[in-house]
Amino acid sequence: MKSAINTTTAIGLTFEPLDLTLAYPFGISYGTSEVSNNVLVKLAYEGHVGLGEASPASYHSETPATVMAVLAEIAEKQQEILGSDPFAAVEVSRRMDLMIAGNYSAKAAVEMAMHDLAGKICGQPTYKMLGLSGHAYPMTDFTIGIDSPEMIERKTKEAVDAGYKMLKVKVGTSYDHQIIKSVRKMAPNLPLRVDANGGWSVKQAIEMSKFLAENGVEFIEQPLPKNALAEDFRLVRQNAAIPIFADESVCRANDVARLAGAVDGVVVKLAKCGGLLEAIRVISTARAHSMKIMFGMMIESSIGVTAAAHLSSLCDYLDLDGALLLRDDPYQGAAYDDGYLRLPDGPGLGVSKRK
Ligand SMILES: [Mg+2]
Repeated sequence: MKSAINTTTAIGLTFEPLDLTLAYPFGISYGTSEVSNNVLVKLAYEGHVGLGEASPASYHSETPATVMAVLAEIAEKQQEILGSDPFAAVEVSRRMDLMIAGNYSAKAAVEMAMHDLAGKICGQPTYKMLGLSGHAYPMTDFTIGIDSPEMIERKTKEAVDAGYKMLKVKVGTSYDHQIIKSVRKMAPNLPLRVDANGGWSVKQAIEMSKFLAENGVEFIEQPLPKNALAEDFRLVRQNAAIPIFADESVCRANDVARLAGAVDGVVVKLAKCGGLLEAIRVISTARAHSMKIMFGMMIESSIGVTAAAHLSSLCDYLDLDGALLLRDDPYQGAAYDDGYLRLPDGPGLGVSKRK
């Protein structure tokens, strides 16, 4: 049988900086940023262009410079890595892992562009190409970053006025009680979860969990530092008043087993696992260990958000608000609608440049 694909055409990779300005400076326990320096990836094949986005985080050992260096290497090794089959995302992903260690946000950008490309060639959305329905997904939350209590009140009020139905609050400071009080003053009844980004000790996490439970907080993300022992997470989980999720401590599927029984759930992100295929493996591994799944993201445009949203039917909780935190999102894709991120109908990721 003759292939419908002209396998002599090489998949061409180009990339450029994608600097995203935040609506407000975004504070987390590691520091505050006003701009997210991401990288846009384009894969070209026979008149089709697949889009991808890398959102490097220094706490995962990536910067815009390392992303560009990795992408330059992939472009240079076009034949060995990208080849000429736009439907071979599994193989491209595997070849990237064999030839380049780590650098998962760079790899995620290439892999999401492969899915976008394949979907565009077939005229089908990525979730369908992956065997998913694209229906029945949870609401997404909206994140309030670390700031002064006055600013947190103001941001919370704006979020409530804008119609956001669920909030995530960044903590891990010396005034976490005040942060929660400020949020609860303006949003007494909204579902709430917190993310300490590794800012607490075991003792602090257990103590804070009781205060958070009293304030109607659903769960705590990453209470302990990234490299904390599984035994310490287990101790927190056994004594905490609410469930514990691991984010920075779990990147790839092989990190999940280490924390099995030590946390209630894991946070999956394309930028830390290396793409949609590995994200599905992380989710499957966590499910096999009876863990809950939250899908999160870095500060990303609608390219990265929408790529993640294609897997949202596999998750229990969504934290896909990266593009909602931007002053101007240069792309449009999954759109926020009454608490939910609605997937676009277009082929591939369904993302286009905002006019
Ligand atoms: Mg987190």
